Amino acid sequence: MEEVLKVENLHVSFATYGGEVHAVRGVHFKLYKGETLAIVGESGCGKSVTSQSIMGLIPKESGKVKQGAVTFKGKNLTKLSEKEMRSIRGREISMIFQDPMTALNPTLSIGDQLMEAIIQHQTVFKREAKQKVVNMLDLVGISNPRERLNQYPHQFSGGMRQRIVIAMALICQPEIIIADEPTTALDVTIQAQILELFQEIQQKIGISIILITHDLGIVAQAADRIAVMYAGKVVEIGTRKDIFYQPQHPYTKGLLNSVPRLDLEEEQLIPIPGSPPDLFSPPEGCPFAARCPYTMEICDRLYPFTNQLSLQHQVDCWLQDERAQQRKHASKHHH
Ligand code: SF4
Repeated sequence: MEEVLKVENLHVSFATYGGEVHAVRGVHFKLYKGETLAIVGESGCGKSVTSQSIMGLIPKESGKVKQGAVTFKGKNLTKLSEKEMRSIRGREISMIFQDPMTALNPTLSIGDQLMEAIIQHQTVFKREAKQKVVNMLDLVGISNPRERLNQYPHQFSGGMRQRIVIAMALICQPEIIIADEPTTALDVTIQAQILELFQEIQQKIGISIILITHDLGIVAQAADRIAVMYAGKVVEIGTRKDIFYQPQHPYTKGLLNSVPRLDLEEEQLIPIPGSPPDLFSPPEGCPFAARCPYTMEICDRLYPFTNQLSLQHQVDCWLQDERAQQRKHASKHHH
C-alpha cells in the first residue's frame, strides 16, 4: 500500500486563560492511497485539532505544534510557512467542513465560486475552467450542471450544497480530502447519500479521505480503517473489521456499546460512565483509567506501550501487554 501521509508523535497545545491545554498528545497514523481513514472520538478528543494541524490551520495566537511531524511528499507540513502551506491547501490537501454555508459565498453563483477556486491554483483558459466545473458538478451528482452554474447557494437544498462543497474541495484534484463531520448537519437519508458519494468518487479518482467524526454509524459504512482517539491520543487503530468485531481497547468497546449503529437492528445502548480527563493536566498513565472497568495498578502510573496485534491493528492498553504482568511482579519485588 502506498503511503500518502504520515503523522508522527504529534503534540499540539493551546494557551488559554486557564492554562495550557494539551489537546493532541503524541498522535501517530499513516494514510494510504485510495483509502478512507476515519478518526473517531468524542468532542474534545483531539480529532479536529489533528486535522487542523495537517492543514496548517492551528490558530497562531493560541495554538502550537509542540512536537512531531506531518509528512506529505517528503515535507514536514508543520514546518512550512503560511505561504508554502497555501500552495498545498486546497490544491493537494483539501478540507470539507460540517456546515456548507461557511464554505460557500452566498453572494456568488456556484459557477463563479468553482471557477475562482480553479483560477486561484491553476493557469487555465476560462472555457477550459468552465468545462472542469461542469464535469465536477456532474461527478458529485448535480443534475443539469450547465444550467445551474448561475444559481446561488441559497437556491440549493442542504444536501445539494454539501455536494457543491465537495465539488469545490475536489476541483483542483487534491490527493487528500479531510472531511470534518461532513454530514452532521444533514438528515439521515441525505447523510447516507453523501457518504455513498464519497465512496463513488474514491472509486473513480482514487483519492485518500480522512473522515473526522463522532458517529460510529457513519464509520461502519464509509471507513476502510478506523483510528479511535481519546484524550489526545490514538488509543486503537485497525481495519473496520478489527474495530467493529475485534475491538481490544476498553474505550473502543464502550464506544461501540454506547453509540447507535446502522448495522445492528436491535441493540441496548450503554453509556460509558464518567467523563474524559482534564487536558490542562493530563494523567501520566492511561487517560481512560478513571473510567475503565479493567484498570490495574500500572495503568495509573504509566501510559501503555503501543501493541501491534496484527499488521493493521494496534492498541495502547496494558491488558494486551505481557510486560504489565512482569512489571506487576517487579514492583512487588521492590516493595
Ligand atoms: Fe483500562 Fe488499563 Fe487498558 Fe487503560 S491501560 S484501558 S486503564 S486496562
